[in-house]
Amino acid sequence: MSLVELTNGGPLAGKVRKLTILGATGSIGCSTLDVVAHQPDRFEVVALVGNRNVELLAEQAINCRAKVAVTADAGLYDALKEKLAGSGVEAAAGMGAVMEAARRPADIVVAAIVGAAGLKPTLAAAEQGTTIALANKECLVCAGEVFNSAMRKYGAQLLPVDSEHSAVFQVFEQKQRDQVDQIILTASGGPFRSATYEQLKEVTPEQALKHPNWDMGPKITIDSATLMNKGLELIEAYHLFPVEPGQLDAVIHPQSIVHSMVSYCDGSVLAQLGVPDMRTPIAYALAWPSRMPAPVERLDLAKIGQLTFEPIDSDKFPSVGLCLGCLETGGSATAVMNASNEVAVAEFLSDRIGFLGITELTREVLNEADAAGMLGNMTSLDEVSDADEFGRRKAGELAQRLQK
Ligand code: NAD
Ligand code: MG
Repeated sequence: MSLVELTNGGPLAGKVRKLTILGATGSIGCSTLDVVAHQPDRFEVVALVGNRNVELLAEQAINCRAKVAVTADAGLYDALKEKLAGSGVEAAAGMGAVMEAARRPADIVVAAIVGAAGLKPTLAAAEQGTTIALANKECLVCAGEVFNSAMRKYGAQLLPVDSEHSAVFQVFEQKQRDQVDQIILTASGGPFRSATYEQLKEVTPEQALKHPNWDMGPKITIDSATLMNKGLELIEAYHLFPVEPGQLDAVIHPQSIVHSMVSYCDGSVLAQLGVPDMRTPIAYALAWPSRMPAPVERLDLAKIGQLTFEPIDSDKFPSVGLCLGCLETGGSATAVMNASNEVAVAEFLSDRIGFLGITELTREVLNEADAAGMLGNMTSLDEVSDADEFGRRKAGELAQRLQK
């Protein structure tokens, strides 16, 4: 189901919402729990799922009175159980437990695991026909139509958490979908917007991890520095809204105040604005189709003074064009690209390849996939896994060759 087909007044209006968070200990997970802590009467937390930070996971689960806390790492069961002792919160561990927790009845499941690792738990949560507040863009990038058709089959509703897509969702007039010209995503430009190509060659992980406007997990912060994040988001927008690839565009907006825009055939452009704080789009998804207060600073445009825009420099940031090319190619191209990018980001963060090597490596993996006839149609989860595995394996091999 595309987002604009959702009806107003949804099934959750007015009742206490049962909430599960996949990826509770990450940046989105923590922001979600903060939003919920400010509106405790509206939510009942069912399950919190995290990975290795069991200390934080246990603390969160006790504070929000979750029914169960789950670490994906089976070896950390005892550590989690010990931290939860006497609290009344159930402890569980391992991938089977993650899937079981995702399937527990909930009204909303926030999908905030990072990377393609979030795909299976998110699909498990969708099986109950619930509302998925989707932060994990890699789900849609790697599985695209396979993911959407599973959502339709289960009768699950997708709501965007990504700030750009939340913005588009808020200004996309569903009755005027045929009169939409373009979806225009904004991008901050990241920390290297003004750097020269030569300077980009020398970028270190520490520099790339300092985002000027947003405080996020490491993978998306690097994606924002290469602008791969914007490429991934264009693909995400394609799968969320009823538009063709040619109707998708992106523009640099360094202040991150205008979160995205929709332009119409009469020349009108509708935008959503706010301070750069993920708690606003999170609150929007949690309260939809209503709104609720979020603990964020109010937007003061007079104080900000200037909102500026500029085109993306495709020589310095070829990742956006690479992603749009994958969208045009279709089939498994976006899955291969996503997997390769995940490996490349990890290699860069471990200081084994250079900053420019991230996109180079991903382009090369796509060329190899094309030559090997791996960019065919993708109609099942098995085919998504095959494409993902191919992308990861090739990226690992190429990373050896590109090593600094
Ligand atoms: P993060 O690295 O801060 O957190 C990731 C979470 O996933 C953690 O809780 C971690 O424990 C969990 N996790 C990782 N691997 C796992 C596994 N195999 N099984 C179970 N749990 C696992 O990341 P983040 O910045 O919160 O981003 C999460 C997702 O939201 C990403 O897909 C990102 O692109 C998207 N997103 C983030 C932001 C943001 O502001 N942080 C904005 C828009 C979209
Ligand atoms: Mg975003």
